[in-house]
Amino acid sequence: MSFETTRLAELADHDAFIKRHNGPSSDDMARMLDVLDTPSIEALIDKTVPSDIRLGRELDLDAPRSEAEALEYLGHLARQNRVAKSYIGQGYYANHMPAVIQRNVLENPGWYTAYTPYQPEISQGRLEGLLNFQQMVMDLTGMELANASLLDEATAAAEAMALCQRSNKKRKSKTFFVADDVFPQTLDVVKTRAEFFGFELIVAPAATLAEHDVFGALIQYPSASGELHDLKHLITQAAERDIMTCVATDLLSLVLLKEPGAFGADIVVGNSQRFGVPMGFGGPHAAFFATADKLKRSMPGRIIGVSKDSRGNTALRMAMQTREQHIRREKATSNICTAQALLANIAGFYATYHGAEGLRKIAHRVHRLTTLLATGLKQAGVALAHDSWFDTLRLTGVDAGKIHGRAMTHDINLHYFADGDVGLSLDETTTAADVATLFDVLLGSEHGLAVGVLDEEVIEKKLTGIPAELTRESDFLTHPTFNRYRSETEMLRYLKRLENKDLSLAHAMIPLGSCTMKLNATSEMIPISWPAFAHLHPFAPRDQVAGYQQMIDELAAFLVEVTGYDHISMQPNSGAQGEYAGLLAIRRYQAAQGEAHRNVCLIPSSAHGTNPATAAMLGMQVVVVECDARGNVDVDDLSAKAAKHSDALSAIMITYPSTHGVFEARVREVCEIVHRHGGQVYVDGANMNAQVGLTRPGDFGGDVSHLNLHKTFCIPHGGGGPGMGPIGVKAHLAPFVPNHSVTPIAGVDAASGAVAAAAFGSASILPISWAYIKMMGARGLREATQLAILNANYIAKRLEDAYPILYRGENGTVAHECIIDVRPLKAESGISEEDIAKRLMDYGFHAPTMSFPVPGTLMIEPTESESRYEIDRFCDAMLAIRKEIDSVTAGEWPADNNPLVNAPHTQADLADDNWERPYSREVGAFPSDAVKAAKYWPAANRVDNVFGDRQLVCSCPSIDAYRS
Ligand SMILES: *Cc1c(COP(=O)(O)O)cnc(C)c1O
Repeated sequence: MSFETTRLAELADHDAFIKRHNGPSSDDMARMLDVLDTPSIEALIDKTVPSDIRLGRELDLDAPRSEAEALEYLGHLARQNRVAKSYIGQGYYANHMPAVIQRNVLENPGWYTAYTPYQPEISQGRLEGLLNFQQMVMDLTGMELANASLLDEATAAAEAMALCQRSNKKRKSKTFFVADDVFPQTLDVVKTRAEFFGFELIVAPAATLAEHDVFGALIQYPSASGELHDLKHLITQAAERDIMTCVATDLLSLVLLKEPGAFGADIVVGNSQRFGVPMGFGGPHAAFFATADKLKRSMPGRIIGVSKDSRGNTALRMAMQTREQHIRREKATSNICTAQALLANIAGFYATYHGAEGLRKIAHRVHRLTTLLATGLKQAGVALAHDSWFDTLRLTGVDAGKIHGRAMTHDINLHYFADGDVGLSLDETTTAADVATLFDVLLGSEHGLAVGVLDEEVIEKKLTGIPAELTRESDFLTHPTFNRYRSETEMLRYLKRLENKDLSLAHAMIPLGSCTMKLNATSEMIPISWPAFAHLHPFAPRDQVAGYQQMIDELAAFLVEVTGYDHISMQPNSGAQGEYAGLLAIRRYQAAQGEAHRNVCLIPSSAHGTNPATAAMLGMQVVVVECDARGNVDVDDLSAKAAKHSDALSAIMITYPSTHGVFEARVREVCEIVHRHGGQVYVDGANMNAQVGLTRPGDFGGDVSHLNLHKTFCIPHGGGGPGMGPIGVKAHLAPFVPNHSVTPIAGVDAASGAVAAAAFGSASILPISWAYIKMMGARGLREATQLAILNANYIAKRLEDAYPILYRGENGTVAHECIIDVRPLKAESGISEEDIAKRLMDYGFHAPTMSFPVPGTLMIEPTESESRYEIDRFCDAMLAIRKEIDSVTAGEWPADNNPLVNAPHTQADLADDNWERPYSREVGAFPSDAVKAAKYWPAANRVDNVFGDRQLVCSCPSIDAYRS
């Protein structure tokens, strides 16, 4: 080998990651450009992105870092965090995530890269996991119905308030009651929501509930101070006065406490975090939401239900989707879209693994240690605020300063109430030795208490903090699912069995338009498991979270540069939540200008359902703007409507490039029109993947955008969450982004309430986006955007003769996604977009986005991470399917018996002795060479949606039902 003359600096491969993240090689690129008959990628971009909005320079970011360098730097940041022992409680508790779940679910791309289970035939594994979660919540809360997760406990409580108001037909008051000892972060979020729903809040002691004329009430059980309210009394009194009750609760406590459902609660909410999910400095974890059966049609969020497939076998799917925002838009029950599916699955598996007897052991130990602590404290003369408890005590009349000093020397965090009381919550990780240390901290070292002696006393006197009338009597987790997987071997196989039913990015591309299913690189994922990121309490003292703060500040600075905005709020934990925070900032800003009356929100007809649903939650009047024949916002219609509503115009919500997959050339004009009429411009940032490094919403007229970090910035979808939806705002809106009552955020108006339970939302997944940007650098990010656009145009080119491309830009190109129109084909063949979607499963692919934003179409988004090989494989499948459709049209196959309408094909089909089909088994199940080489089997035949909605079952079916 000849001597290399390369400089050492160049030998270090700083940009190796760019080639790993971006699918096409430079050879691929050249060949794809050839097919497009375009000389260069720059020429393609010039044709696609309007020149008057081009950035014209490289983003000002650091040079790309290698994976090793990025991890090393993140490790350095992690070491600035200090993991103290947390007894803060207040909704967040340390716990032991079972290692078998950590490795096989949390850290397993088979689970975390899957999409929301809209295609049930290839999602039966996570659907079963989520059904377990629902069953667990129903059992522990004693309710008839539970959904498959919400974003956090605080937003769940806010949703509960809205649900009470919608459903309470007897009491039409506009006032909601909140007990004064709910978690402060919950009260904060409920306050924010109430303001724009136009509700009054009464915050008072729980015992006074029945004195007020209110439509509903929120009670915490156990309370933030640890007290166990007499739910029977409170709920009965409320019911007599037609007040609906919502109980915020803790799942572990319900193992020992009488379940709220037994007292007649209408709604029960809470956080499942302590079931195996790390605190993560605030998230992500799955909130739960359970109701009485009568409220099922107005339940927010997704519900997994039991149905059957075309063979009559039990099959799961998402139920009652017609309630959701993508159908009901501004009339939807809530704007929730991305929730916390991965974390709900983990919490459900925690219950599956431990079973009722395991949970009882954990709950008993926590309660016993708390009782022991309470007994010792009382003996030492410390006054407790309450004589009931599960795991939380509140000490009154103590010297908080002294306790704080001693706690710090032991690296222990306690909860310090504003009035000088000290609170603490024990958890699964607490040991007898920890309690001994707590005595030292709370009493000073001279206390003379011995844990062993106290334990004898607790046993002898049968001491407990749970009043007899609040003691649980009913069974829970009796279903076989919760009783089978006690050994790790069995659990491992159960998790693997479920994983194998699902199609994820580990199998094939998932070309879902608007969802940006790109690579979630392993090195981006690794830091989320590090204790220094995973084990921090969101209310930990600021000097213990310096590494987090710096990482968040750096990520915010990256995103400021990427978007052209002035400030980022990292609080919203989904795109829809970001929309809420963004419109909220607009409304607060306008109110501060004396323009609180502005409440009209213009929304193009192509918008995602979350847009109108969010506007409605802020009490805005949605006015729909039409699109023209090319799919663009109809500027004349916009002008007319902006003029008509000029006095009341608050905002427009546009998506850019539009959900039609096109960069609208007149976007600047659209923004100017709205500004001229006194409105603000909300740019839905779900499509940032087509903008990064090429154009910035903050430059072409946007005032605020949310960014789906779980789309463009590499946080995995987790089968329907987690996500993060931070917002970028212009300087004038910066004071009005959400604040937080427990951990105030610098630079934000103190009066701006929270939209999420934690100040920085789901902070523990932010290292993923940080690492992505760090490893790509300005050039890598720009190339990613260019390749996303190239890949989409290449697909449009390859498919255009077989399927008409619905919308294109002025120069005939598409943006980062393209819509193919299936309606003409359907008219001549009877084959629908759904048949194509299901047939793609036989070819080993997930379907593109179906019937959004245009009914009867498929929207394809490849992302930059897919190689030409994979894209060709997908296009080949789509073209082969087109030939199959032609065979139906030509009458070679009957319209009601062909590989398309019978798709997907399962192993059950192949094993069936009665193969009564006009095509071979091979055509059915092995239609391409690729699947002959490696076959992914759909776990169910076509699932019947109507059947499942007619007979709604959202609990685990008996095992016999699975066999039938
Ligand atoms: C995904 C998406 C949203 C909603 O984001 P979530 O994180 O699911 O709440 C909003 N608008 C558009 C255009 C989207 O694609």
